[in-house]
Amino acid sequence: MSYQCPLCHQPLHHQQQQWRCQNNHQFDQAKEGYVNLMPVHHKSSKNPGDNKEMMQARRQFLEAGHYQLMRENTVKLLAAHLPENSQKILDIGCG
Ligand SMILES: [Zn+2]
Repeated sequence: MSYQCPLCHQPLHHQQQQWRCQNNHQFDQAKEGYVNLMPVHHKSSKNPGDNKEMMQARRQFLEAGHYQLMRENTVKLLAAHLPENSQKILDIGCG
């Protein structure tokens, strides 16, 4: 899988917790592993999205197992409908 720079549409290359294109646009990878590719000038605040407390609250909620049944059924559906050699799924803006 490859990522494309949302600013200049060149490929993004991963290095040291950052994704960077040949035009030096860079996007930091969060310690949780995700990367936000929304350009800074499209963000409505200096710190858009969820803050640290919101991320921790979400993690705590998810780890409590409230979505376990839905998760198990989603995995079953994916296994039933994805091609056999599929190994990765891209989750974009699904909340
Ligand atoms: Zn770029």
